[in-house]
Amino acid sequence: MRIREVLNKKRTFSLEIFPPKLENPLEPVIETINKLDDLHADFISVTYGAGGTNKGRNNEICQYVLDKGDNLVSHFTSIGNTRSEAIERVKKYVGMGGDSILALRGDYPEGWTGTGGDYKYATELIKDLVDNFPQLCVGGACYPEKHYEAPSLEEDVKVMKLKEEFGCEFFISQLCYDLEAYKRFMDVVDKTGVASPIVVGLLPVIGRKGVLKITSDNACNIPKELQTIFDKYEDPADFKKAGLEYTKDLVEKYLGLGVSGIHLYTMNKWQDIREIVLDTSLNNLK
Ligand code: FAD
Repeated sequence: MRIREVLNKKRTFSLEIFPPKLENPLEPVIETINKLDDLHADFISVTYGAGGTNKGRNNEICQYVLDKGDNLVSHFTSIGNTRSEAIERVKKYVGMGGDSILALRGDYPEGWTGTGGDYKYATELIKDLVDNFPQLCVGGACYPEKHYEAPSLEEDVKVMKLKEEFGCEFFISQLCYDLEAYKRFMDVVDKTGVASPIVVGLLPVIGRKGVLKITSDNACNIPKELQTIFDKYEDPADFKKAGLEYTKDLVEKYLGLGVSGIHLYTMNKWQDIREIVLDTSLNNLK
């Protein structure tokens, strides 16, 4: 089902799957999907490698999800794509049965200063996809703490509005551990008149390195409560235990704010994802 239709019906709980690199086996990712199957996620999203890498594996995982009969959102980045290449690739995705897509610019691969293709911004890609595939449900990314290149939060949210005007039907947000920042973001979203559902991306706090890298790469804040966990728990097992409790609490706080959905990055850690879902209201969202 198109993701906007899913979001129109209920608040969603969804999973983000990272396809393996071309040289690595598919099995651990397939196992993750299978081990989480009985949680009945409202949709599964499959990321698309930077610089167009892992394209093959993205396709294979998307096909697997579609064959299972789950709702699917493939991510797609404009990096390295001419207009016609992008349209061709998305045509194949639609041909496979894909009805929803997250249209992104992508991060520049190391040493690049542009997208190396026809699209400068995701906004242009969104417009092209909506124009060429009117049946496709096109979503976009958003950034509660603003995208690292944006001059201000207000300017970045204007870009969301533009995406919406071009036909973007839903947003998935960058991770944001800072709830106060999220509330400020929502104020700007409301003032700017962005009306599409926003699903909150959430990286579970499981390992120190992963959280530090992603927050620093994306200029995201580590609020005091999370910093305390970093300061207090040196031992990885203790850190993970406290991190999982923090994550569950954050899920409930986000749901308390009335968000449209929660999107969990799985990182193949299906045991931890299961625990988070089963111990929170994600288990029974209406
Ligand atoms: P854009 O929307 O183009 O924004 C990039 C910058 O340009 C922003 O500062 C924005 O304010 C500005 N901008 C956009 N349009 C305009 C305009 N018309 N005029 C002026 N300024 C403009 N990367 C991957 O490689 N693969 C993935 O699978 C992937 N999945 C992601 C999923 C989510 C939910 C998120 C939040 C990010 C994901 N990313 C992924 C990372 C993403 O590609 C990067 O954050 C990238 O730097 C920006 O992508 P975007 O689509 O937000 O770009």
